[in-house]
Amino acid sequence: MSLTRVPGLLFGGDYNPEQWPEEVWAEDVRLMAEAGVTMATVAVFAWSRLEPAPGAYDFSWLDRVLDLLHEHGVAADLATATATPPPWLVRDHPEVMPVDAAGVRLEFGSRQGYCPSSPVFREHAVRLATAMATRYGGHPALAMWHVGNEYADHTLECFCPESARHFRAWLRARYGSVGALNAAWGTSCWGQHYTGFEQVEPPRRAPGPVNPGQLLDWRRFCSDALLELFTAERDALRAITPGVPVTTNFMSLLHGLDYWAWAAEEDLVSDDAYPDPADPGSHVAVALSYDLMRSLRQRPWLLLESAPSAVSWREVNVPKPPGMMRLHSLQAVAHGADGVMFFQWRQARYGPEKFHSALLPHGGVHTRGWQDTLRLGADLRRLAEVAGAATRAEVALVFGWESWWGLEAPESMPSDRLRLKDLLLSWYAPLHARGIAVDLAPPDRDLSAYRVVIVPNLYLCTAEQAKALAAVTGELVVGPFSGVVDASDQVHPGGAPGPLRDLLGVAVDEFWPLPDGATQRVRHADGGTGLARTWAEWLRPDDDVTVLARYAGGDLDGLPAVTRRGRATYVSCLLDDVTPVLDRVLGDVPALRVPPGVEAVRRGRHLFLLNHTTDPQRITLPFAGRDLLTDTDLRGSVGLAPRDAVVLRIEGDT
Ligand SMILES: [Zn+2]
Repeated sequence: MSLTRVPGLLFGGDYNPEQWPEEVWAEDVRLMAEAGVTMATVAVFAWSRLEPAPGAYDFSWLDRVLDLLHEHGVAADLATATATPPPWLVRDHPEVMPVDAAGVRLEFGSRQGYCPSSPVFREHAVRLATAMATRYGGHPALAMWHVGNEYADHTLECFCPESARHFRAWLRARYGSVGALNAAWGTSCWGQHYTGFEQVEPPRRAPGPVNPGQLLDWRRFCSDALLELFTAERDALRAITPGVPVTTNFMSLLHGLDYWAWAAEEDLVSDDAYPDPADPGSHVAVALSYDLMRSLRQRPWLLLESAPSAVSWREVNVPKPPGMMRLHSLQAVAHGADGVMFFQWRQARYGPEKFHSALLPHGGVHTRGWQDTLRLGADLRRLAEVAGAATRAEVALVFGWESWWGLEAPESMPSDRLRLKDLLLSWYAPLHARGIAVDLAPPDRDLSAYRVVIVPNLYLCTAEQAKALAAVTGELVVGPFSGVVDASDQVHPGGAPGPLRDLLGVAVDEFWPLPDGATQRVRHADGGTGLARTWAEWLRPDDDVTVLARYAGGDLDGLPAVTRRGRATYVSCLLDDVTPVLDRVLGDVPALRVPPGVEAVRRGRHLFLLNHTTDPQRITLPFAGRDLLTDTDLRGSVGLAPRDAVVLRIEGDT
């Protein structure tokens, strides 16, 4: 089943014809057809061209673009064009621009210049979305709607009076009374007791650390406020084109937005991913975010933006060496993507992204980049049968945005160095290296289908979440600094791990963060040793708890580091290498053993083997089958050239 009206794997990119004279368009669509492009994302930043004056629309150019695309077999991921308001809207209503935490109203001249809570912006955005749906709802090129663009990339929060009003309304709905808000925020600390909601403001820049309870609610509110903006447009589209899927492009593992909540509001999940070619480990981190995208709705997703080669927004923008663009694209498909799209189709001649690579580079069809484009288009056609296939994972990594926001609150934590992404990767990377499929899951999802559930950190843990973890029927591993606070960021009575106390059988006597660069040795029960960095804890285990590892040396010498009660393992530190813990809990969870730097991913009846190294590799095949990329039968073993891939349709597997 396809996510959109387009069969097979989608291939294409952002197309900005408004940046080019019309005579270029004919060449664009001709080359798109030549490369096998099946979808173009259109009109993302085109508001000022579509509505040059209030209520006066000029759709004529977009009519011609969509007709041209359709005539050349290219479907449209049509944006509602609301990612940036036109200058007239900002001049007529300066209050639509966001205000930063210091009270400075930002100016026009970039993008995402809007206050998420502005009723004026919302009204105009919904009106444009309605006009777009009315105009193009029946156009044969329309395959899906693209609302906004990369929400929270530049504008996550706004501190203007309108946002303050919106925040107060949100707080009233959450707490009902200012007394309840005072209790939740602990306003008795530092003399912040409120006597009315009208006294409450967003957490603007203040003389010292801001109330962490206020900050946590602000994070929740900011995610919700932008989501309201998205759903307002979505509802307008659905009313007119109920059969056309609606998406907005996510930004991988983004701190600002609760994608568990967001994904539930869209018809399909799409993502923008820009792994850094200069980072040799980037294919692991990006695999984690791809698995998150697949897990958000537990079905295939779309890679809506990626870079053919270099980006333009890092301090140093390293290009992708030969083979990497193809390899990273196939990697997204391996992890559940039903399409690979790029920013952008034709490389711009002006603007902040003029040096960002494109499918069709400045140098045109004689470039290495264009040859890569042709090759990838052909490869994706060969993999059409993969579209729609599901991934079966027996291991889940659990995390939630509320806990992340609490964990990384500024200026009030035992250590600023304990970061959720590091914690997630400390578990994900070794699982990835073993070719073990991993789902991501929120802490309140039913986890009974998994044989192993790993919670790298759950700083904020409610009684309900603790109950969900206690109901895990497989192995459960809980990482450090978990069960510390409740939903209001207040420490659980008796301290950590709070509601996980009985499940884990340990109490944390004291947090023991390690200074930068310091290590703490850990001795496992089997005699092996390892190192912890960043974080450790002084634990008091119950009598019936088994100690699997102890701290060795230093102030914690001899104290338990890793413990186990029943099927629940607690790891009180950030270990360099979690292999001994994984070896104990994984049992016979299916793994795919491959050389270091080679990635093995199973998707449906297909096995992807991806060589991320710059050396040739020989891999023993666990299955015989047909390589879809070369259309050859393989059995026994296969040689993989540097940055090459095999996509095996497993023989006999249906
Ligand atoms: Zn505002």
